[in-house]
Amino acid sequence: MTVISANNRSAPWAGEKPGVEARPIGVLGGTFDPIHDGHLRPALELLETLELAEVRFVPCRIPAHRGAPQVTAEQRLTLVRLATVGQPGFVTDDRELQREGPSYMVDTLTSLRDELGADTPLCLILGSDAFRELHTWRRWEVLSDLAHLVVMERPGILQPLPPLLEAFAAPRTIEGAVELRRRPAGGILFQPVTQLAISATQIRALLARGRSPRYLLPEAVLAHIHDRALYRSPLSPTSLTS
Ligand code: ATP
Repeated sequence: MTVISANNRSAPWAGEKPGVEARPIGVLGGTFDPIHDGHLRPALELLETLELAEVRFVPCRIPAHRGAPQVTAEQRLTLVRLATVGQPGFVTDDRELQREGPSYMVDTLTSLRDELGADTPLCLILGSDAFRELHTWRRWEVLSDLAHLVVMERPGILQPLPPLLEAFAAPRTIEGAVELRRRPAGGILFQPVTQLAISATQIRALLARGRSPRYLLPEAVLAHIHDRALYRSPLSPTSLTS
């Protein structure tokens, strides 16, 4: 297992001993096909607002709940690393690329628990769109035994929760960062973040049409996409430079 620390500088509060009252570790899983500012800005806000020790970006190898990504897992990992390097507290974690088969979050959280021990608070971070689908994830009921769930509101997700999830969330809902530190797992926090209507789908579509996704994702990520001619459709104009 290689955890690529994207930045040698830790968050200013990192380094505390794990245990109850330790600063929680955030885990943001995704396809990251590609990573964009809609992932990065909310993650930074959670790092600071919830006083997380770090946010681990965990790209999946094979997404369990959607079609195949357009670029390889290694390429998506490289894009995540480029996006997170230089930001204290952001860490790229490649554990899902080391496992065979589809990437299930329950396996990822179990492996993090094995590594970090039972007492360190873990926060699984997910957008409100992903949370609405939680009941379709493998062994979804045990996810909150392994970690807290932190749900970031995402633009355009207005419908109420499915009743099954509503019943799951109601008794677990907590109000703030302090609660996340009191126990290692089990709470669900609905946390407002800056609403950025950016999606990887939109970025792939722009690139495929030869249009620029600039300012929707970090410059270093865009430069790498252009260098390697990623996300080009055969019809893309070749003259695109930014
Ligand atoms: P795609 O458009 O290909 O479905 P995506 O932009 O939703 O991709 P993912 O890698 O699937 O990106 O998302 C990883 C996690 O980040 C998910 O929990 C998702 O809900 C969340 N997320 C993605 N974009 C945003 C955004 N703009 N605001 C808040 N959360 C987001």
